[in-house]
Amino acid sequence: MNKIMKPDLHPETLRRQRYTCQCCGRGCRTFLVPVRPEERRAIEALTDWRKRLGVGELFVKHRSAGPAGYGLAKWTDGRCVFLDDDNLCIIHKLHGFEAKPLACRLFPFVFTPLGDTLRVGLRFDCPGVCESAGQPLTQYLRELNRFSRQIAPAGVKQAPPPKLTPKCSVSLKRFDAVNETLLQIITSDAVPLAMRLHWLHRFTQHLLRIKWSNVPEEDFDDLVAMFKGSLLAELHREKPLSLSSPLPQWKLLRQFFFLVCQPTMIVTSGKKGPLNTLKERLRLIRRMKEMAAADGSLPKIQSDWPDVTLNKLEDDFEPWPDDVSAFITRWLTCRIAGVNYCGPNAYNYSLTEGMDLLLLATVAVGWTMRIAALRAGRCAFALPDAHEAVIIIDGNLGYSQALTIGPSKLRLQTLTQHLDDYIRHYCL
Ligand code: SF4
Repeated sequence: MNKIMKPDLHPETLRRQRYTCQCCGRGCRTFLVPVRPEERRAIEALTDWRKRLGVGELFVKHRSAGPAGYGLAKWTDGRCVFLDDDNLCIIHKLHGFEAKPLACRLFPFVFTPLGDTLRVGLRFDCPGVCESAGQPLTQYLRELNRFSRQIAPAGVKQAPPPKLTPKCSVSLKRFDAVNETLLQIITSDAVPLAMRLHWLHRFTQHLLRIKWSNVPEEDFDDLVAMFKGSLLAELHREKPLSLSSPLPQWKLLRQFFFLVCQPTMIVTSGKKGPLNTLKERLRLIRRMKEMAAADGSLPKIQSDWPDVTLNKLEDDFEPWPDDVSAFITRWLTCRIAGVNYCGPNAYNYSLTEGMDLLLLATVAVGWTMRIAALRAGRCAFALPDAHEAVIIIDGNLGYSQALTIGPSKLRLQTLTQHLDDYIRHYCL
């Protein structure tokens, strides 16, 4: 009999995270939910939906639906055609939870095959996950077990870990040891968060300098632990540096902010055709240019962003309060513990590339929080600013194809060289 991959919830995720659905319908208003052919047939067979809902199409063909090819159709405002006025799913209401597409049932859980398990992560673009209130995650174990049987790749008993660096593959044991070290760093609550971010960055950079295939098995853990300890000591010894002004590679950094802050694309059946695609591309390029201007207004990447100048966002802001730092720590902890910052859920990036992207995304969260604070007329941050920023950015990280366009790896490498500066400026 084939052994089934079991869900694996890391103890740090279990300890720090709770979740209860708030029935806010956010996911149903934003994402294009992929539906497999058999799911399309099963949903079609339930009732005469077209008549009941007053829609022409139930499904829409689009490349962003991934291998499924089709997604649930949406109204022009982005709302799923199956979402009712009470923010509830009509398929669920009339035919039960199991009748919904798998992607809807899984949300907000993310699974990463790792060894003989499926590592479980959570999507922080779900307000229920951000809030972390309600049920402990242990309550979902039965459901997660059921999902595992449905999504474990057929016939695969052992999934290899993501690469450690772009040029180096390691065993699962070694990958796990390094991932655990990243977790120990981010959860070292006695160290200020900004210093932990620098620490993660330096540790990741160190991983790139070693030829790991030359390191004997018995020395591996000691070497990793030695790096971790010595890099923290180095950070403690360093005198605070003054900020580079202007920030290095600021145009490229703003382009990254632009890409990672995109609203989730709304796909409707009425907007097909090469002309519309071209118009959309031109609009993106225009806005990206606006972002790379020395000054000027903040482009309305998100519709509720305020009318402020780009320069205003570079003013001095208050340091992050404790509840904001604790929330950002929880977000990063869950991403690392769930291994959904590298590998199949993050553009098949290696661990080091994935960490670079996650740290740059944290910098982008710091920048986006400034927008939320300015809209409320503050230069000090509040927890809802952090929730808003993480919801936007986490929803793009690993999912948005915009982050892979053009020379994305080159952009990542260039920006990573200046991460210390960016962390000092945006993640206080
Ligand atoms: S976005 Fe999260 S909280 Fe809102 S309905 Fe979906 S699962 Fe529930």
